[in-house]
Amino acid sequence: MAMRSMFRRRRKKVCSFCHSKDGSIDYRKVNILYHYIDTRARIKNRRRTGVCAKHQRVLSKAIKRAREMAFLPCK
Ligand SMILES: [Zn+2]
Repeated sequence: MAMRSMFRRRRKKVCSFCHSKDGSIDYRKVNILYHYIDTRARIKNRRRTGVCAKHQRVLSKAIKRAREMAFLPCK
């Protein structure tokens, strides 16, 4: 049962937006934004996503805009 705690990795995450060639965050890229919201449509925090502070700011703006445009659900 308590297997999950045993396999906890401590590898440092790399920000996927810094890492990718096209690091732009756009509110129309809904399929990308979906990775950064949880099942209750809340924006995941930085510890879970591994996104850097700079991109997290841009990301949260993009998600909020996408919600306004009804691309993403808002709870
Ligand atoms: Zn980044």
